[in-house]
Amino acid sequence: MTFENTLDFAKKMDASDPLASYRSEFIFPQHEGHPVIYFTGNSLGLQPKRSSAYVNEIMADWANLGVEGHFEADKPWWDYHERLAAPLAKIVGAREEEVTVMNTLTVNLHLLMVSFYRPEKGRYKILCEEKAFPSDQYMLKSQARFHGYDPETALVEVQKRPGEHHWHTEDFLDAIEEHKDELALVLLGGVNYYNGQVLDMEAITAKAKACGVMIGWDLAHAAGNVELKLHDWDVDFAAWCSYKYMNSGPGNLSGVFINQRYLDRKDIPRFEGWWGTKKETRFLMKPEFEPMANAEAWQLSNAPVMAMAPYLASLTMFEEVGMDALRAKSQKLTAYLEFILKTVETEVQGSFEIITPEERGCQLSVFLHGQGRSLFDFLMSKGVLPDWREPNVIRLAPVPFYNSFEDMYRFGQILKEGILKK
Ligand SMILES: *Cc1c(COP(=O)(O)O)cnc(C)c1O
Repeated sequence: MTFENTLDFAKKMDASDPLASYRSEFIFPQHEGHPVIYFTGNSLGLQPKRSSAYVNEIMADWANLGVEGHFEADKPWWDYHERLAAPLAKIVGAREEEVTVMNTLTVNLHLLMVSFYRPEKGRYKILCEEKAFPSDQYMLKSQARFHGYDPETALVEVQKRPGEHHWHTEDFLDAIEEHKDELALVLLGGVNYYNGQVLDMEAITAKAKACGVMIGWDLAHAAGNVELKLHDWDVDFAAWCSYKYMNSGPGNLSGVFINQRYLDRKDIPRFEGWWGTKKETRFLMKPEFEPMANAEAWQLSNAPVMAMAPYLASLTMFEEVGMDALRAKSQKLTAYLEFILKTVETEVQGSFEIITPEERGCQLSVFLHGQGRSLFDFLMSKGVLPDWREPNVIRLAPVPFYNSFEDMYRFGQILKEGILKK
């Protein structure tokens, strides 16, 4: 498709976009009476209008029913979480029983490492990417220390090649091969938060499995953004947060995937709580833990339904649209943003560079040469909401649910003005 850097063209793209109506399903922060150009759905997705009805429903049930709401509410609280598993399974490419919602992301990665990071003599290392998201680095290092290892030697970090901004798949494959006898776990971010790169999760998972190494994925930036086939790829475990591309609200719950082969097994160590025990006998309050035969065995506490409500609301939209349609729009919209960026770059002669490789979701990371923070501040003053990462990177995530082609065009005009103004 040939794109044009005109308002007319952008409007035509919006007019023929089958998902265009979803924009009005979201609430946009306003800037001088107009919706902002929101590029930070990779950090916090916008609020879906339908989410407050779901929260209010629980507030009303609580008011009207008190404790009886656990069983008597229209959507009873005691098994409220079950409603999220089926739609989530579709989003991440899993069987329904492999998925559940609980806790928050870093907590879940720790809990999953209890089960799946089982270091033993000589085989205790964890392979990750260099400069992983800080929380993941802290988690991995503290897990290594918890098991009595020095993080300096326990972590194998796959580096980018000198002068490059992205990783090569073969460097992960080679590193797994090289360290296979000492690796207890591979744990990587499926989509890198900084450069927006989508790792070849299928190939890297296959390599880890071929080498007999456990592999888990942090899908914070992948879930609801790119196609995932966790079950078919034979991933061991994964976790994601829901407040980025899944629009569930600030700090909200995390989803987990646990491969079917680990379900209903007695020999897998796990930290346990009453919401993981068989629901048929849960309220008999017996001393023995009888694990649920699905991923819920990893649940500890009774469901925080107030937090689940907006997540469930948001998932109804994913159900309506489906990942295929969402991804199709995402690719077009991101390609249009890339075109706009390159057009502006030519016009102003190379003031920045896109560091996101071809393998990408909807995020483009732009490295600014020359101008930095001042350009970012200019964009903000004009009603654009991008994201700033040190030392000089602006992250832009056009989200297919609510960003428009017109947003991209208007952004290009503002960016050009900001660069020329310096
Ligand atoms: C956003 C993000 C997190 C955040 O973790 P929380 O526990 O939800 O605060 C962790 N890891 C990655 C890779 C992220 O992108």
